[in-house]
Amino acid sequence: MAIPRSPDSGAGIVLGTPGRPWYRGRVISEHPLVVQKFGGSSVADPDRVRAVADHIVRTRRAGHDVVVVVSAMGKTTDELLRLAHDVSHRPSERELDMLLTAGERISIALLCMAIIDLGQPAVSFTGSQAGIVTDTAHGRAKILEVRADRLRDALAAGNVAVVAGFQGVSTTFDITTLGRGGSDTTAVALAAALGAQACEIYTDVAGVYSADPRIVPEARRLGRLSYEEMLEMAASGGRVLALRSVEFARNHTVPVHVRSSFTWEPGTWVQEEDPSMEQAIISGVTHDTSEAKVTIEQVPDRPGIAATMFRALAEAEVNVDMIVQNVSTADHTDISFTVPKEDLARTLEVMDKVVAEVEATGLRHDPDVGRVSLVGAGMKTHPGVAATMFETLAEEGINIEMISTSSIRISCVVPAGDVERAVRALHRTFGLDEG
Ligand code: ADP
Ligand code: ASP
Ligand code: MG
Repeated sequence: MAIPRSPDSGAGIVLGTPGRPWYRGRVISEHPLVVQKFGGSSVADPDRVRAVADHIVRTRRAGHDVVVVVSAMGKTTDELLRLAHDVSHRPSERELDMLLTAGERISIALLCMAIIDLGQPAVSFTGSQAGIVTDTAHGRAKILEVRADRLRDALAAGNVAVVAGFQGVSTTFDITTLGRGGSDTTAVALAAALGAQACEIYTDVAGVYSADPRIVPEARRLGRLSYEEMLEMAASGGRVLALRSVEFARNHTVPVHVRSSFTWEPGTWVQEEDPSMEQAIISGVTHDTSEAKVTIEQVPDRPGIAATMFRALAEAEVNVDMIVQNVSTADHTDISFTVPKEDLARTLEVMDKVVAEVEATGLRHDPDVGRVSLVGAGMKTHPGVAATMFETLAEEGINIEMISTSSIRISCVVPAGDVERAVRALHRTFGLDEG
């Protein structure tokens, strides 16, 4: 198969003042630095690895220093996870991290080989070698510090540095992973630590769309988004960027360019809000089917009960998302909340005890739910968005089970089987289908 070549070599990187990589107080290179991250589908087979290598080399030759972050090839992470569950009922979290990081290790070595073949020196680094120091929470570690001296040395010596995404080393020297999709976070963290001009996230779609293009073929690519809008989209299921990576980008003002490694066309810039631009009322519709709903029935309505429930969940490290408390009748009320499906068993264990402790009457759960959300900065100043959203769902005969809002997002929990229809109907009603 002919290797598809990228028509540009970093020409999309024209934003802001070029950064000048520095090292211990001195500029190490006159070249502006760019971090390029390639997701699993971008390096799924040898042809793809060579296409990506070609793009990296051309970016380097166009005058940029390049740090590359790469994910495991194709579905490797899923396959490794399956293997772990084949050999163990409940895989040790430490060993699971050791296993999963192997996927990215394969990618860095192969990508470096392909880059070197094109005449460009390149050096691979595991997360630990790249100086990514995390806390000790296996499977969901947070980056505490980036000690990027080895990367700076590699760049100063004229190399492309290729770093394994999604992994680090903990403060107790164990290998950790950052959670699914974590290579995005590695890339943005490195871009922040190295003062890169931009962080380019290459994936299998041409940017951030007004809805997941797999579900809404009419979805439009968004030219730019503020960090706040992208945060809400990522938090409500728009998995094109991992949530933590957007938090990092916002906190360190790293411009992020999401684009395709298949067509190489310019994609979506995620950056600070431009006050001179009018804000879209609705930028996108997101959906998420990764959570389950839990309801505690007939909880006594008195101070301290909710605190007891959610403290118990926090201590079990369950990430609770939406919480809804009903109006109380006869001094009792129902409380519902959502949790990631993988935390459901743990949640029910904890809640069984809490139900007895607080003298509630019952515990129900429903894994067959999904969340649809509307996100848009202009929502703040435009009344009526919620009403139109609920009317649209009603016209589709879709029952709303829970509602939550932020200043720029409205989310509804609906039956899982209705999620895709809800996304398409909302996309149409809010005029996002039109070009
Ligand atoms: P990678 O392996 O490159 O990290 P991901 O699968 O994590 O890629 O993210 C890209 C996928 O995100 C796309 O294939 C698309 O189906 C999905 N996606 C969900 N919501 C959106 C959206 N609003 N815009 C673009 N892609 C989206
Ligand atoms: N390989 C990891 C995953 O599949 C990390 C990533 O791709 O960002 O989640
Ligand atoms: Mg991803």
